[in-house]
Order: sequence, then C-alpha cells, then structure tokens
Amino acid sequence: MASAKFKQPPQAPPLFTHTAESIISETERLNAEYKKDLDEIVAKVKPENATFKNTIGPILVDDDGSAVLRRVLNFYQHTSPDAKLRDASTKADDITSDFDIECKMRQDVFDVVEAAFNQRESEKLDTESLRVLEKERKRYVRNGLLIPDGPKRDRFKEVQKRLAQLCIQCQKNLNEDKSAIWFTPEELDGVPEDDINIADLEKGTGENEGKVKLTFKYTHFFPVVKYAKNAETRSRYVIEDANKANHNVPLFQEILELRDEAARLLGYPNHATVNIEEKMAKSPAKVNEFLGDLRTRLAEGGKKDVAALLEYKKKDYAERGEDFDGNFYMWDTSFYSRIMKEKEYNVDEIKISQYFPVESTFNGMLKIFEEIFGLLFVEVTGDDRKQISKTGKAEDIVWHDEVRLYSVWNDEADGGEFVGYLYIDLHPREGKYSHNANFNLEPGYIRTDGSRNYPATALVCNFSKPSGKKPSLLKHNEVVTLFHELGHGIHDLVGRTQYSYFHGTSVVGDFVEAPSQMLENWCWTPSVLKSLSRHWESGETIPDDLVSKLIATKNLNSATSNLAQVLIGTFDMTIHSPESHEAIKKMDAGRLWNQLRHDISGIKGPEDIGKGYNWGNRHANIGHFIGGYDAGYYGYLWSEVFSTDMFHTHFKANPMDKEQGRRYRKVVLEKGGAQDEMEFLTEFLGRAPSTESFYRELGLA
Ligand SMILES: [Zn+2]
Repeated sequence: MASAKFKQPPQAPPLFTHTAESIISETERLNAEYKKDLDEIVAKVKPENATFKNTIGPILVDDDGSAVLRRVLNFYQHTSPDAKLRDASTKADDITSDFDIECKMRQDVFDVVEAAFNQRESEKLDTESLRVLEKERKRYVRNGLLIPDGPKRDRFKEVQKRLAQLCIQCQKNLNEDKSAIWFTPEELDGVPEDDINIADLEKGTGENEGKVKLTFKYTHFFPVVKYAKNAETRSRYVIEDANKANHNVPLFQEILELRDEAARLLGYPNHATVNIEEKMAKSPAKVNEFLGDLRTRLAEGGKKDVAALLEYKKKDYAERGEDFDGNFYMWDTSFYSRIMKEKEYNVDEIKISQYFPVESTFNGMLKIFEEIFGLLFVEVTGDDRKQISKTGKAEDIVWHDEVRLYSVWNDEADGGEFVGYLYIDLHPREGKYSHNANFNLEPGYIRTDGSRNYPATALVCNFSKPSGKKPSLLKHNEVVTLFHELGHGIHDLVGRTQYSYFHGTSVVGDFVEAPSQMLENWCWTPSVLKSLSRHWESGETIPDDLVSKLIATKNLNSATSNLAQVLIGTFDMTIHSPESHEAIKKMDAGRLWNQLRHDISGIKGPEDIGKGYNWGNRHANIGHFIGGYDAGYYGYLWSEVFSTDMFHTHFKANPMDKEQGRRYRKVVLEKGGAQDEMEFLTEFLGRAPSTESFYRELGLA
C-alpha cells in the first residue's frame, strides 16, 4: 500500500483546460517571448564576448520554461475529442513551425552562437553543455545559415516553410482518415466475433444494402487479413488499404522534391546524408551496407518461409475442394501465418488473448518495472485527482475521461523521490492518433533555482474497446506493443538530464528504439508471461503448455517479417538519396514501392496478376516518412542490433535481475541524449557493441 507521502507529488501535473482560442493565443505568446529572448541576446552579446552562458544559456532557460505548455498545446491535435481543439492545435503547430524556421534562420543569433562555438575551448563546459552547443550550432547550419545571404538563402527558407506545412497536412490527413470498405457478412466469414462483432458495424444502404462497413484501422485491419477466409476479400481489402491516402500522394511527392532541393542548397548530396550525419550510422553508405547485407542474408530464409506457407495454402484449398493455382500472394501472408501458427504450433491467438485483459496486463507490466527499475506507480483517481490539480478540478488534468493517470516514484528503498507522471489512453476514438505511441508532455530538467522539474509522459494507444461483458483483450503481439510503448514511457520518465534539450527519449533516431525493443524480450520470457496473465473470467494464469507453444513461434516467419522492415528501410533510403534532382522529379514513388516490395519480399502481388506496378500507394500512408523518421526508418533494424546485444549480454539469463535493471536505468536510460550514445552503450555492455547476437537471434549467424 502506498504511504501518504505518495499521494502528494511535489509538482502538479499539466492542465488540459485550453480552448481553441487560447491554444492559438498561448502559442503566439510563447513565440513572442522567445523572440524577445533572442532579441535580448543579440542586443547584449557581441561575437567577441560570446560564450555558452550568454548565448545558449538564455535559449535553454526559455526552452525549459515553455516546454510543458508547448507540448500540451501540440498534443491536442492527436488526442482531443473536440475537433475544434484538434484543428486549433494543428494550426498552432503550423504557426510554431513557421516561427521556428524564422528563428533558426536568424543570422544575428547564429553569429553569436558560432562565436561561442569557436571560443568553446576557453570555457570549461561540462559534457552536456558542450553537446548542446555543438548540436545547436549544427541546427543553424542545417537551417542554411552558411548559405550566403541572397536568393539561394531566401529559396531555402521558403522550402523549409512549405515542407513544414506539407508534413503537418499529411499527418492530419492520416489522423483523420475515414476511409472504409463495404463487405457482406459472408465475405467476412472466418473473422472472429471477438475481434469484429459484425452486429456492431454500420449497416449499408442503397448500393451497400446488405453490407457492413469496415475501416482500415488496426482493430479491423489485422482481423481481416489474418482471418477472412475469402482470398478475394483480403485482396480487395489490402489493395484498398494501399489507396486510402491517395490524396497524400502529390503532397508526398512535393515533400520529396523539396527535401532534395533543400539538401542540395545546403551543399549536401541528398537529404539522407543530412539526416544521417549526426546519427550513430553517420552516413547513408553505412546504412545501405547494413540493409543490403540484411537483405542478402534474409533472402534464403524468406524463400523458405514462403514455401512453407504455400504448403498450408495448398492444403487449405484441398480441404475446401477448390482448385489451387500454386500462387502465393501478399494478402495470403498474414492469413496462412496465422493458420500455420495454429496448426503447426497449436497456438490459438484468440485463446491466448483471453489471459491478457488490458487492465490486469498493464498493471502486471507496471509491477515488472517496479521490480527491475525500483519504481513505484500510484494510480491517481477520483478525489485524489482534485487534490493534485492546480485548478482543484479532477477533469482538468486529463484530456479525456478514459485516460488513466499515475504518479511515479522511486520506491522507498531507492530513496522515494518523485519521478513524474504517466498517462495511458488505451482505446480508439474518432479523430484520435491512430497508431500506438508515446508522447512526452513535460520534460525533466534542472530549474534555474537548482530544483528539478519532473517529467510527464503519455501512452496513446488503439487497443479494441471492451465489448459486451468482455473486457478489452490483448493478443500476444499487442502485449508486446504495449510493453514496447511503455518502455518508451519509462525511458521518458527516468531521464535525469540538466536540460530538457536532452531529456528522456531525446536520443539519436537510430538508438531511440533500442531500449523499448530490448524490453520486448521480456514478453517472450515464460515466467514474465505467466506473471502478466490473468484469464478474464477464471482469473487463472496462462497454462505452461500454451506459453511454451507461443514461445516456440518467436522467430516464426521472421525472415519474412524482417524483409518487410528491410523493404520500408530500403524504400526510405532510395527516395531520400536520388542521384540528381531531376531523378527525384521523375521518380514514381508508388511504383517504386510496389517494385521493391515485389523484389525484396519475393511474394506475389497485384502486379503478378496483370495490374501493373501502379496499383496502389502504400507509401503515402506510412506516417514515418513525414513524421521525423525520413531517412531514418532503418533505425528500427539498426537499434535492434544494439537491443539484442544488450539483452543477450546482461538480461537473457535473468530478465528480472534488479542489479542489472538499476544499472541499466542509470547508465543508459537516465542519460537521455546528454552523452554520446555509443559511449554509454559501450559502458553498459562493457565492450563495443556487436552484431553477433542479432544475427544469432534470427538464426543467420
Ligand atoms: Zn517504438
């Protein structure tokens, strides 16, 4: 039981009390204050007396002080149930992007930052401050400040502004996507009622008479591709899914051309080089080598996977008494993988999901983090919410009444200090961000008076809602996803940096997934799975035989699924490193995607049944390419190398090892981005990282 002290966090949580008007006015106020700070810096400081303290210092103080409000104002667009607030938040985001570009292109500010950078040796800066100085300077450089004043510089600025608008627009289109497809109940034969209750679906009228409406959200997508027996249904569904964001296609093409133009104006050969130079990989060549190597090593395994799945398809057709043409298509993969799992491994995902109701599973996950990292999670409900709310109103500290809130502490043995706030928003809603992700709402940092500001972090998920008397049940892959996102949340919560600049998950893009990916391994550990499980009716834990069968499927069809990642990474690198600007203008990204998909996966698609390579634009609905993972998607596979190495080296023997857990928290998680990632990774491993565990795990060593 939590003691009384744990009811009174030393810092109130953020407020979600904004109106559409105040979202805009507050944004404008923050921007005006920031501008004033910059004006003051350049008024006071001359290049000859510029130091970290008098140039970057005030910028960081402003960053820290405005951080929570900026994040909250930005957050409404992804989560507010009120469309007006979402629109205002999107607009505010737009205003700030424009403003940021203006600021980061100020020659007068850059002159003093550059001077401070050149004089850095004379100041005895700590590692974190030095790192901010280097990164800030680079940010100005990447914003074109070394481009001579004149038409080239003006064009660069124009390009940046347009790019920011386009990315916001594309993301908004994805968030608000309402595409749907109509099927008769017969066409959906095989889809379990547990997953999609046909009676709950919207019924069609007119030309859709007798049909029901399905969306392309996860809660519909996976059940259809995994369970719909009718191949025509699956094929129509995946092709339609690849066309749901066609209005993004021209916008995306413009993004690609502008990114390329901007990179060339900066003097870089392409956008990928700009984005990778500061990452762990350092250069596109290194990334291409990594992806190419993986593609080669996985190709054979991919063929074997498909051959095995083909056998299941053959048997399935024989059982149905239908003719089989010997072909295996992209819309068959999930369906026959699921059958293979059920038949060969006797793994029934629906049966397993009965042991993982989202509530108790989530609580079990928190317990795991309590044990290994020495944390304590105290749920804040009812009147306790009023107590900690700055306005005294419980509803003001959440953005929707389904949101759960925890105050997080170090446990008593670890000092009992407050750590921060954790929110979870589990189920889909109209207009809500449609994937699963972690959002920082307030960063941690040291205030000017020396006290610590504590972070707040939110998990925004889309697990199916409870239906009838059944709670929301998680399939095993969803258990893994939730654990993964919670892993980002913990990374965000335990950060202990000086500046918000490097707080939590503010690490390089090709490392940021590693901590969460490492934690996924816990969900493949029998003892952990048992501790997380609790049958929603009987309360029993999952039986051992079900667990061992499930674990046996860990790397089932892993060549195929990793090749799918290689595809996205390769596409991403190809579109962001064209040979010339002409080449990007001529590029047909949709066609390129379909061609790469066909070649890399080795699985047939619409192009093999006479539909050509222009049958869909799957690439236009991958938010990663617009949301900051551009020329960065490889990072998922790249950081998997590190995560596997860390897990095998220090946790495989005992994932619940408290000592290693706390050491990991201290050496890796607490650092945020304040130290070179390779340095703390090497410190944690006790040697330089190696790819060996990764390839061994995939059976490719
Ligand atoms: Zn992640």
